[in-house]
Amino acid sequence: MPLAYNKRTHTCGDLRAADVGKKVLLCGWVATARDHGGMVFVDLRDRGGLTQCKFNPDTDPKAHEIARSLRSEDVVAIEGEVAPRGPKNVNPNLSTGEVEINVREIDVLSRADTPPFEIIDDLDTNEDTRLQYRYLDLRRAPVQKALIMRHRLAKTVRDYFYRHGFLEIETPILTKSTPEGARDYLVPSRVQNGKFFALPQSPQLFKQLLMISGYDRYMQIARCFRDEDLRADRQPEFTQIDVEMAFVQPEDVMQHVETCMAEVFEKILGVKVPLPIPRITYDAAMRDYGIDRPDLRYEMKIRDVTEVAKKTDFNVFKAATDSAGVVRCIVAPGGGEMTRKELDGLAEEIKGIGAGGLPYVKVADEGGKTVLQTGVAKFFAGDAMIGELLAASGAKPGDTIFFAAGSIGDVCKHLAWLRETVAHRRKMIPENTWKWCWVVDFPAFGWDAESKSVFPMHHPFTSPKDEDIGHLHLSDEGVPPAADLLKIRAKAYDIVLNGIELGGGSIRIHRADVQSKIFSILGITREQAQIKFGFLLDALRFGAPPHGGIALGLDRMSMLLSGSQSIRDVIAFPKNARAVCPLTGAPGDVAETQLRELGLHITRPAT
Ligand code: ASP
Repeated sequence: MPLAYNKRTHTCGDLRAADVGKKVLLCGWVATARDHGGMVFVDLRDRGGLTQCKFNPDTDPKAHEIARSLRSEDVVAIEGEVAPRGPKNVNPNLSTGEVEINVREIDVLSRADTPPFEIIDDLDTNEDTRLQYRYLDLRRAPVQKALIMRHRLAKTVRDYFYRHGFLEIETPILTKSTPEGARDYLVPSRVQNGKFFALPQSPQLFKQLLMISGYDRYMQIARCFRDEDLRADRQPEFTQIDVEMAFVQPEDVMQHVETCMAEVFEKILGVKVPLPIPRITYDAAMRDYGIDRPDLRYEMKIRDVTEVAKKTDFNVFKAATDSAGVVRCIVAPGGGEMTRKELDGLAEEIKGIGAGGLPYVKVADEGGKTVLQTGVAKFFAGDAMIGELLAASGAKPGDTIFFAAGSIGDVCKHLAWLRETVAHRRKMIPENTWKWCWVVDFPAFGWDAESKSVFPMHHPFTSPKDEDIGHLHLSDEGVPPAADLLKIRAKAYDIVLNGIELGGGSIRIHRADVQSKIFSILGITREQAQIKFGFLLDALRFGAPPHGGIALGLDRMSMLLSGSQSIRDVIAFPKNARAVCPLTGAPGDVAETQLRELGLHITRPAT
């Protein structure tokens, strides 16, 4: 009689000393099979864990004979009794390490070829091979752990929002463009020949429509698609925790999100998130950290030293201040010990992000007197100037001061890079520390110097702050001057953890006139707006409540919570860094007939 594998009694991670004597039926994959001449030992694996199975030739010759033929990754069912391991053989690293199974019967359910790589925890195989055989890679414990953690994350989030009256509603995948600043993935329609769907970059417009329909409090764990040039940490399709609420201000959305995040961190990591999470305005974040996603695990705030820099004869500082720029600095505590080689290395690297160089001085103590040494020290002539620099920068003997000079934008960019790089290199980042913040009051628009036009900092549906709405000149026909537009702050907020943006959202525009004005400011003509967003503009005219929401990256959050190195580790079937799926070979060619049906013709560049 074959074993009834559908009547499994336990997983391979369940059995403990208390189960000794029980008759059990386990199923799984052969992780290892060791033939000790007499006994055969098989480690059986399923997603519950590993259990050691012992085959004795004297008591169960038939089972023993079969066990001798086993190879890694064969699939078997076994029946036997739980027995204690001798004290010397207990494995404290295994949940089932106190026991083993004396196997009476075994069925081989499936034989396996030799796998292309071993199914072990620390695998050193190139990623494309792992992804090509992802179903094998997924058998490995660390990948399993990450996916199980991701499941718990999604469940905790759902539980939180369900408990607070949010409805989970699915929104379309075949849809129209939803602008989030990336290229769309397009899907040709056969039925409407020559027309295309776009895959959603986010459920943005549908969640807004749901608010207009009165489905106050929506959430969805939503798949989104953005055709971007891939950076290391991006996937063409990704998952976000998408939320929208009606009759709310930013605080209401933020409170829900931070309470939900606190619940996630408590449940999954046992870590308490002190609430409320600090709020930092965009202006303060840029001033102090040079970036809108500050890493608060370390200090090294940016300080402004423009006033004292103006008094120097250093032409780099002069050029900056003469052209209405600034001179700012960060102080590396104990940076005095940095070697010439390290400093030259940093100077070389910072040129890679567009800086002209890296002026610095070391602060030292000479017989009780604080002095500046090396670098640009000679330009700070006299005690008064040195005193002024020390006061403005907060530097002490033993520190190094790094400067950046130029436009505010460039200075922020260079010092933000430097702050992060110095913190990493000098090991200033405490381990197992979680530092959260909200960045609020973003500008509504950014300025694109190349096209000399404004662009939305969040997306075109974001509401200006009530007190700044005057700068839109709603009653005038034309587009307001850029200077006015750049003064407008938005009801937008980002949640940041350890310098990583976990998500962002905003209160939306719920007035058709304001929305139309924003479109025209963004250079979208009335006709284009009607074609692209006519349905939204119409809906806004039929009773739109004030509303707003947020989206949080589920993949990125899973990565942080599981301590994974790459976002691909927390996605079951990811694309590689070239946006290709090595497992299925997608994207692939299609048959000529399919193209014809779709009315498509591919013009390939001649090779
Ligand atoms: N739609 C935005 C995004 O996907 C989030 C939001 O505004 O709620 O990034």
